[in-house]
Amino acid sequence: MTGQLDRPPLLQMALRVEHDIFVVRQRGREVAAAVGLEHQDQVRIATALSEVARDLLRAVGGAEVSFHVDDGPDGRCHLRVDLLPVGPLPAERYEPQSAAVARLVDSLGTIRLGRDTVVRMSRRVPVTAQALTPERLAELRAELGRSVPGSALDELAAQNEQLIAALDEVRSQRDELAVLNEELQETNRGVMALYGQLSEELEETNRGVVALYAELDEKSAQLRAASESKSRFLANVSHELRAPVTAIIGLGRLLADSSSDPLTTEQAQQVGLIRSSAADLLTLVNELLDLAKAESGRIEPGWAQVDLRPIFGQLRGTLRALATRPEMALVVEEPPSPATLRTDEVLLGQVLRNLLHNGLKFTERGEVRLRAELRGEQWSLTVSDTGPGIAPELHERIFEEFYQVPGATRVGGTGLGLPYARRLVTLLGGTLELASEPGKGSTFTVTLPVGGA
Ligand code: ADP
Repeated sequence: MTGQLDRPPLLQMALRVEHDIFVVRQRGREVAAAVGLEHQDQVRIATALSEVARDLLRAVGGAEVSFHVDDGPDGRCHLRVDLLPVGPLPAERYEPQSAAVARLVDSLGTIRLGRDTVVRMSRRVPVTAQALTPERLAELRAELGRSVPGSALDELAAQNEQLIAALDEVRSQRDELAVLNEELQETNRGVMALYGQLSEELEETNRGVVALYAELDEKSAQLRAASESKSRFLANVSHELRAPVTAIIGLGRLLADSSSDPLTTEQAQQVGLIRSSAADLLTLVNELLDLAKAESGRIEPGWAQVDLRPIFGQLRGTLRALATRPEMALVVEEPPSPATLRTDEVLLGQVLRNLLHNGLKFTERGEVRLRAELRGEQWSLTVSDTGPGIAPELHERIFEEFYQVPGATRVGGTGLGLPYARRLVTLLGGTLELASEPGKGSTFTVTLPVGGA
């Protein structure tokens, strides 16, 4: 930078009398135009220059004004104007009369050069300007040296023109601003309208959702009521049916009794049919009654510390009679010891008997196996068989009342065993799950907490 200061100035002139202020202004604009400053910046630096020139003329009686081009620290060219006062500045530094003057240029202030204090201002040359090579600068220096400054009147005319141009610009900016404002207002109106529409739609949707929920609540209340009345109906009907069915069975037994009048072969056959139908009916009625009781919450488990081993022993004994075919085996494994948990012994026995019974009923060959395993705080009791298996999409359906897998070998039954078993397991605080695939057998798993529900 210091090296650049040695470059000869583009132009220099003396400021001594009032008229020189006009000349400084005019020359300032000329130099600014020559180095490529934009029109507005030309006016800005010329205005700043004439203000500073006026201040210095009044304060110290004049200055030497010189114009230079520097490479700024930002790597860009700057137009620099130095005003070396002819006498010492009153405060050894210079402050423009109006702060607005400093805003017209990029920098304005005093610097010391040797024993002199110089007022310096600068403005950046835009990148779009023609490159200011040493050759170009020499050219500009020569051109500026040749041009003769105009009169004060010329400068007044030029200033007027600039004023008119500036006013024009302000007007067009104001017009632009007005258009922008209008557009902004329009956009705002649009946004507000959209917002209004959206919130209306949202409100509408909300109303719909609220209505839907109300309907759902109502429907589930209706469903609950329907389910309760169904349970009540089942319980009542089964109860009412049990007495006559028991009577039919009793009477059938009497008729077939050897102490009664002998029956013809045909009569004996018919009585046999009546008795077995009545026995089926009684099973159905009993199962219905059990399920209805479990559903209405009228079964209270009798909680106690229970040992699995006697339960397993009893199941082994009572169900052996059902697995008499040589191609079928019932395997009840010995539970690992100690095999205790808090539960209802009778209800658990019913569940396991039911599952084992199903296994034996649906499996033609192979085995049905019961085993117990303790996993952490849970007992896992599995009943697995080598039977036909159940398709995955029916795994939940078979727990519905009266559901039986279509096409399965007709081996009798009511379709109430599994829903009842699941009810009981739930009452005992556990779960009943099925894992099965057609052709690969079925495994029903009862999981129960060691500590009870
Ligand atoms: P039920 O045995 O009286 O028909 P369940 O509720 O116990 O009624 O069982 C429902 C249906 O689930 C059965 O009809 C049968 O189709 C199927 N199922 C139950 N257990 C097995 C099993 N171990 N293997 C194959 N299918 C089974």
